[in-house]
Amino acid sequence: MEEAIGKLLESASRDISQCGNDLRELDQVRVRYLGRKGDLAQLFKQLGSASADDRPRLGKLLNEAKEEIESLLAGAVEEGKDRLLEGRREVDVSVPGRRPLQGRLHPITQTALEIGRIFSNLGFETVEGPEVELDYYNFEALNIPRDHPARDMQDTFYISEDVVLRTHTSPIQVRVMEKRNPPIRIIAPGRTYRCDSDVTHTPMFHQVEGLMVEKNISFGDLKGILTVFVHQMFGPHVGLRFRPSFFPFTEPSAEVDMQCVMCKGKGCRVCSHTGWLEILGSGMVDPEVFKMVGYDPEVVTGFAFGMGIERIAMLKFGIDDLRLFYENDLRFLRQF
Ligand SMILES: [Zn+2]
Repeated sequence: MEEAIGKLLESASRDISQCGNDLRELDQVRVRYLGRKGDLAQLFKQLGSASADDRPRLGKLLNEAKEEIESLLAGAVEEGKDRLLEGRREVDVSVPGRRPLQGRLHPITQTALEIGRIFSNLGFETVEGPEVELDYYNFEALNIPRDHPARDMQDTFYISEDVVLRTHTSPIQVRVMEKRNPPIRIIAPGRTYRCDSDVTHTPMFHQVEGLMVEKNISFGDLKGILTVFVHQMFGPHVGLRFRPSFFPFTEPSAEVDMQCVMCKGKGCRVCSHTGWLEILGSGMVDPEVFKMVGYDPEVVTGFAFGMGIERIAMLKFGIDDLRLFYENDLRFLRQF
């Protein structure tokens, strides 16, 4: 019996090594030796006819042989699986690759860049300024005195009495005029903050400010530049109209409407059935603002304008809910 166990072990290990890690052949070997009717099971049956003295020793030998065969098989199967995977890696070039995640620019950023590109072609330089701004630049230098309603705590995030989160990008024009002499042609895009949150307002939003100062700049120049901008942004056939308005830092001031891009001016829900959409505020720089930065309003004139980037992006991409921009839903963002 001992001899039989030895021979069984020998032949099992030979058979396993001859399989060459072929998983199907290894399984046949497993059945042949370890199966319920396999060679090992036959030997276990013979154990019953062995003498009571020999039985424990032979039983131990048989169990050891079983464990040995099991471990040999397990090793060979593991190696066979590895080889199978390796073989696939080497051979199967048709397995589809995993597409790397592709980042893209947020629609607000895309819109800001597009606005920058259009004005850059018109000779405007892009400049930036601080988001945490002195009260002086945000209000006072823009002809918004201490008691002006725009300075209400309801609208402005105050950091301290003299420091605010800028409520518009207009302070940048003051900072630029303080440092440079005319001619000036700048646009200033950036984040702005107001204490306001509902369907059409978010506490943080984006604006682009524009400023052009030279000798003999007229309202006609303002109209011409803004018309070129709107035509490049929304198409050459979009109509524009200028409505008289009021801003503390421009005089005269005008709000600019463009023909509704949704209904082409016929009237729809988006334009409240007027056919027009308000897109920006503008005007000739107020002489008081020029005086604050040391320019002589008798010598130079200029215009300024400001627009909300979210508003432009919504009209450009046909988005009807402002909040979509800030929910970071990838299904939304991937469309741009
Ligand atoms: Zn409309």
